[in-house]
Amino acid sequence: MDSVISLKNVNKIYGTQVKTQVLTDVCLEVERESFNSIIGASGSGKSTLLNIIGTLDRPTSGEVVINGVRTASLNKDELAALRNQTIGFVFQFHYLLPEFTALENVLMPARIKDGRVSAEVRERAEHLMSLMGIEKVKNNMAAKMSGGQQQRTSIARALINSPQIILADEPTGNLDSESTEAVYDIMRDINETLKTTFLIITHDRKITQKADRIVEIKDGRINLDIPASQAED
Ligand code: ADP
Ligand code: MG
Repeated sequence: MDSVISLKNVNKIYGTQVKTQVLTDVCLEVERESFNSIIGASGSGKSTLLNIIGTLDRPTSGEVVINGVRTASLNKDELAALRNQTIGFVFQFHYLLPEFTALENVLMPARIKDGRVSAEVRERAEHLMSLMGIEKVKNNMAAKMSGGQQQRTSIARALINSPQIILADEPTGNLDSESTEAVYDIMRDINETLKTTFLIITHDRKITQKADRIVEIKDGRINLDIPASQAED
Protein backbone atom coordinates (compact mmCIF):
# COMPACT_ATOMS: atom_id res chain seq x y z
CA MET A 1 0.00 0.00 0.00
CA ASP A 2 1.15 3.54 -0.75
CA SER A 3 0.48 5.06 2.67
CA VAL A 4 0.18 8.79 3.07
CA ILE A 5 -0.40 8.31 6.81
CA SER A 6 1.35 5.62 8.82
CA LEU A 7 0.94 5.06 12.55
CA LYS A 8 2.93 2.42 14.40
CA ASN A 9 1.98 1.45 17.94
CA VAL A 10 0.73 4.86 18.90
CA ASN A 11 -0.07 5.30 22.58
CA LYS A 12 -1.42 8.43 24.21
CA ILE A 13 -1.53 8.92 27.95
CA TYR A 14 -2.87 12.14 29.42
CA GLY A 15 -1.89 13.40 32.87
CA THR A 16 1.13 12.89 35.09
CA GLN A 17 -0.42 12.26 38.52
CA VAL A 18 -3.56 10.54 37.39
CA LYS A 19 -2.78 8.83 34.11
CA THR A 20 -5.45 8.18 31.53
CA GLN A 21 -4.55 6.02 28.57
CA VAL A 22 -6.62 7.36 25.70
CA LEU A 23 -5.00 5.50 22.78
CA THR A 24 -3.50 2.01 22.99
CA ASP A 25 -1.17 0.54 20.36
CA VAL A 26 -2.90 2.11 17.39
CA CYS A 27 -1.47 0.96 14.07
CA LEU A 28 -3.01 2.50 10.97
CA GLU A 29 -2.01 2.80 7.32
CA VAL A 30 -4.05 5.19 5.19
CA GLU A 31 -3.76 4.76 1.47
CA ARG A 32 -2.94 7.77 -0.66
CA GLU A 33 -6.01 9.24 -2.44
CA SER A 34 -8.49 7.21 -0.36
CA PHE A 35 -11.66 8.41 1.37
CA ASN A 36 -11.97 7.13 4.93
CA SER A 37 -14.30 7.59 7.85
CA ILE A 38 -13.60 7.13 11.54
CA ILE A 39 -16.49 6.25 13.79
CA GLY A 40 -16.81 5.45 17.48
CA ALA A 41 -18.63 6.44 20.66
CA SER A 42 -18.08 9.80 22.29
CA GLY A 43 -14.90 9.70 24.38
CA SER A 44 -13.42 6.74 22.51
CA GLY A 45 -10.36 8.74 21.40
CA LYS A 46 -11.25 9.79 17.84
CA SER A 47 -10.32 13.47 18.16
CA THR A 48 -7.14 12.59 20.04
CA LEU A 49 -6.19 10.28 17.20
CA LEU A 50 -6.94 12.88 14.53
CA ASN A 51 -4.99 15.57 16.41
CA ILE A 52 -1.98 13.24 16.63
CA ILE A 53 -2.21 12.45 12.92
CA GLY A 54 -2.49 16.19 12.26
CA THR A 55 0.64 16.77 14.41
CA LEU A 56 -1.34 19.14 16.62
CA ASP A 57 -0.51 16.77 19.47
CA ARG A 58 2.33 14.28 20.00
CA PRO A 59 1.90 10.63 20.96
CA THR A 60 3.29 9.42 24.29
CA SER A 61 4.99 6.64 22.33
CA GLY A 62 4.90 5.21 18.84
CA GLU A 63 5.60 6.54 15.39
CA VAL A 64 3.68 8.95 13.18
CA VAL A 65 4.78 9.23 9.54
CA ILE A 66 3.00 11.81 7.39
CA ASN A 67 3.58 11.83 3.65
CA GLY A 68 6.84 9.95 4.21
CA VAL A 69 8.10 12.30 6.95
CA ARG A 70 8.80 10.93 10.45
CA THR A 71 7.27 13.59 12.63
CA ALA A 72 9.06 12.70 15.88
CA SER A 73 12.28 14.28 14.65
CA LEU A 74 10.69 17.60 13.68
CA ASN A 75 10.75 20.70 15.87
CA LYS A 76 7.79 23.03 16.36
CA ASP A 77 8.49 25.20 13.31
CA GLU A 78 9.09 22.20 11.05
CA LEU A 79 5.83 20.65 12.23
CA ALA A 80 3.97 23.88 11.54
CA ALA A 81 5.41 23.95 8.00
CA LEU A 82 4.46 20.30 7.42
CA ARG A 83 0.91 21.04 8.59
CA ASN A 84 0.59 24.18 6.50
CA GLN A 85 1.76 22.41 3.33
CA THR A 86 0.51 18.85 3.68
CA ILE A 87 -2.63 18.86 5.80
CA GLY A 88 -5.91 20.73 5.63
CA PHE A 89 -8.16 20.74 8.69
CA VAL A 90 -11.94 20.95 8.83
CA PHE A 91 -13.52 21.11 12.27
CA GLN A 92 -17.10 20.94 13.49
CA PHE A 93 -16.94 24.64 14.24
CA HIS A 94 -15.30 26.36 11.33
CA TYR A 95 -13.11 28.94 13.12
CA LEU A 96 -13.39 31.44 10.30
CA LEU A 97 -12.20 34.95 11.05
CA PRO A 98 -15.54 36.81 11.28
CA GLU A 99 -14.18 40.24 10.33
CA PHE A 100 -12.74 39.00 7.04
CA THR A 101 -14.56 38.13 3.85
CA ALA A 102 -15.08 34.51 2.86
CA LEU A 103 -12.44 34.91 0.13
CA GLU A 104 -9.90 36.39 2.55
CA ASN A 105 -10.51 33.48 4.91
CA VAL A 106 -9.89 30.99 2.11
CA LEU A 107 -6.66 32.81 1.19
CA MET A 108 -5.33 32.89 4.77
CA PRO A 109 -3.28 29.63 4.72
CA ALA A 110 -1.69 30.71 1.41
CA ARG A 111 -0.82 34.08 2.95
CA ILE A 112 0.78 32.28 5.89
CA LYS A 113 2.72 29.98 3.57
CA ASP A 114 4.00 32.52 1.05
CA GLY A 115 3.64 35.85 2.84
CA ARG A 116 1.67 37.17 -0.11
CA VAL A 117 -1.14 36.16 -2.44
CA SER A 118 -0.38 35.91 -6.16
CA ALA A 119 -3.00 36.36 -8.87
CA GLU A 120 -2.72 32.63 -9.51
CA VAL A 121 -3.52 31.74 -5.89
CA ARG A 122 -6.43 34.16 -5.89
CA GLU A 123 -7.76 32.45 -9.01
CA ARG A 124 -7.36 29.07 -7.34
CA ALA A 125 -9.30 30.33 -4.30
CA GLU A 126 -12.11 31.52 -6.55
CA HIS A 127 -12.12 28.21 -8.40
CA LEU A 128 -12.35 26.28 -5.11
CA MET A 129 -15.16 28.55 -3.96
CA SER A 130 -17.07 27.93 -7.17
CA LEU A 131 -16.56 24.15 -6.68
CA MET A 132 -18.12 24.67 -3.24
CA GLY A 133 -20.99 26.68 -4.70
CA ILE A 134 -20.14 29.79 -2.69
CA GLU A 135 -18.63 32.05 -5.37
CA LYS A 136 -21.62 34.40 -5.09
CA VAL A 137 -20.94 35.11 -1.42
CA LYS A 138 -17.15 35.31 -1.65
CA ASN A 139 -17.12 38.99 -0.65
CA ASN A 140 -19.50 38.54 2.28
CA MET A 141 -18.15 38.85 5.78
CA ALA A 142 -17.72 35.34 7.19
CA ALA A 143 -20.02 36.19 10.09
CA LYS A 144 -22.80 37.10 7.65
CA MET A 145 -23.11 33.70 5.96
CA SER A 146 -25.26 30.67 6.74
CA GLY A 147 -23.78 27.72 8.66
CA GLY A 148 -23.57 25.65 5.49
CA GLN A 149 -21.83 28.46 3.58
CA GLN A 150 -19.37 28.95 6.43
CA GLN A 151 -18.55 25.26 6.50
CA ARG A 152 -18.03 25.21 2.72
CA THR A 153 -15.74 28.22 3.13
CA SER A 154 -13.72 26.33 5.73
CA ILE A 155 -13.36 23.38 3.32
CA ALA A 156 -12.14 25.71 0.56
CA ARG A 157 -9.68 27.16 3.09
CA ALA A 158 -8.48 23.66 3.98
CA LEU A 159 -7.80 23.03 0.28
CA ILE A 160 -6.08 26.27 -0.72
CA ASN A 161 -2.51 25.00 -0.32
CA SER A 162 -3.36 21.78 -2.23
CA PRO A 163 -2.74 19.52 0.77
CA GLN A 164 -2.24 15.79 0.29
CA ILE A 165 -4.49 15.14 3.28
CA ILE A 166 -7.71 16.57 4.67
CA LEU A 167 -8.48 15.73 8.29
CA ALA A 168 -12.05 16.48 9.31
CA ASP A 169 -13.47 16.20 12.82
CA GLU A 170 -17.26 15.93 12.62
CA PRO A 171 -17.37 18.43 9.74
CA THR A 172 -21.13 18.20 9.30
CA GLY A 173 -22.00 17.81 12.98
CA ASN A 174 -23.43 21.29 13.03
CA LEU A 175 -25.38 21.26 9.76
CA ASP A 176 -28.88 20.31 8.65
CA SER A 177 -29.23 17.17 6.56
CA GLU A 178 -29.40 19.01 3.23
CA SER A 179 -26.17 20.92 3.87
CA THR A 180 -24.61 17.73 5.21
CA GLU A 181 -25.30 15.96 1.96
CA ALA A 182 -23.98 18.89 -0.10
CA VAL A 183 -20.79 19.17 1.95
CA TYR A 184 -20.27 15.42 1.73
CA ASP A 185 -20.73 15.40 -2.06
CA ILE A 186 -18.20 18.22 -2.39
CA MET A 187 -15.63 16.36 -0.30
CA ARG A 188 -16.08 13.20 -2.34
CA ASP A 189 -15.79 15.23 -5.53
CA ILE A 190 -12.56 16.86 -4.30
CA ASN A 191 -11.24 13.40 -3.41
CA GLU A 192 -11.91 12.19 -6.95
CA THR A 193 -10.79 15.25 -8.90
CA LEU A 194 -7.87 16.56 -6.81
CA LYS A 195 -6.86 13.12 -5.40
CA THR A 196 -6.86 14.46 -1.86
CA THR A 197 -6.84 11.83 0.87
CA PHE A 198 -9.71 12.26 3.35
CA LEU A 199 -9.94 11.08 6.94
CA ILE A 200 -13.29 12.11 8.39
CA ILE A 201 -14.60 11.56 11.89
CA THR A 202 -18.35 11.36 11.60
CA HIS A 203 -21.53 9.91 12.99
CA ASP A 204 -23.27 10.53 9.72
CA ARG A 205 -24.36 7.46 7.80
CA LYS A 206 -24.43 9.39 4.54
CA ILE A 207 -20.69 9.78 4.84
CA THR A 208 -19.81 6.36 6.22
CA GLN A 209 -21.89 4.54 3.62
CA LYS A 210 -20.01 6.02 0.71
CA ALA A 211 -16.51 6.02 2.21
CA ASP A 212 -13.90 3.57 0.93
CA ARG A 213 -13.21 2.40 4.42
CA ILE A 214 -14.61 2.62 7.94
CA VAL A 215 -12.37 2.49 10.99
CA GLU A 216 -14.07 2.14 14.35
CA ILE A 217 -12.31 3.30 17.51
CA LYS A 218 -13.40 1.74 20.77
CA ASP A 219 -11.77 2.58 24.10
CA GLY A 220 -8.71 3.93 22.31
CA ARG A 221 -8.15 0.89 20.10
CA ILE A 222 -9.06 0.05 16.56
CA ASN A 223 -12.06 -2.20 17.01
CA LEU A 224 -13.13 -2.62 13.40
CA ASP A 225 -11.50 -1.77 10.08
CA ILE A 226 -13.49 -2.64 7.00
CA PRO A 227 -14.25 -1.56 3.46
CA ALA A 228 -17.43 0.51 3.65
CA SER A 229 -19.25 -1.84 1.29
CA GLN A 230 -19.16 -4.49 4.02
CA ALA A 231 -20.64 -2.28 6.71
CA GLU A 232 -23.97 -3.48 8.03
CA ASP A 233 -26.90 -1.27 8.90
P1 ADP B 1 -13.80 11.49 21.01
O1 ADP B 1 -13.32 12.48 20.00
O2 ADP B 1 -13.87 10.08 20.48
O3 ADP B 1 -15.09 11.88 21.63
P2 ADP B 1 -11.51 12.36 22.56
O4 ADP B 1 -10.32 11.97 21.78
O5 ADP B 1 -11.91 13.79 22.51
O6 ADP B 1 -12.73 11.41 22.19
O7 ADP B 1 -11.28 11.99 24.08
C1 ADP B 1 -10.92 10.68 24.49
C2 ADP B 1 -10.69 10.67 25.98
O8 ADP B 1 -9.53 11.43 26.29
C3 ADP B 1 -11.83 11.23 26.78
O9 ADP B 1 -12.01 10.45 27.92
C4 ADP B 1 -11.34 12.61 27.15
O10 ADP B 1 -11.90 13.02 28.35
C5 ADP B 1 -9.85 12.40 27.27
N1 ADP B 1 -9.07 13.61 26.95
C6 ADP B 1 -9.10 14.27 25.76
N2 ADP B 1 -8.27 15.32 25.77
C7 ADP B 1 -7.70 15.33 27.00
C8 ADP B 1 -6.73 16.18 27.67
N3 ADP B 1 -6.17 17.23 27.03
N4 ADP B 1 -6.39 15.86 28.92
C9 ADP B 1 -6.92 14.80 29.54
N5 ADP B 1 -7.82 13.97 29.01
C10 ADP B 1 -8.21 14.23 27.75
MG1 MG C 1 -14.21 14.23 19.28
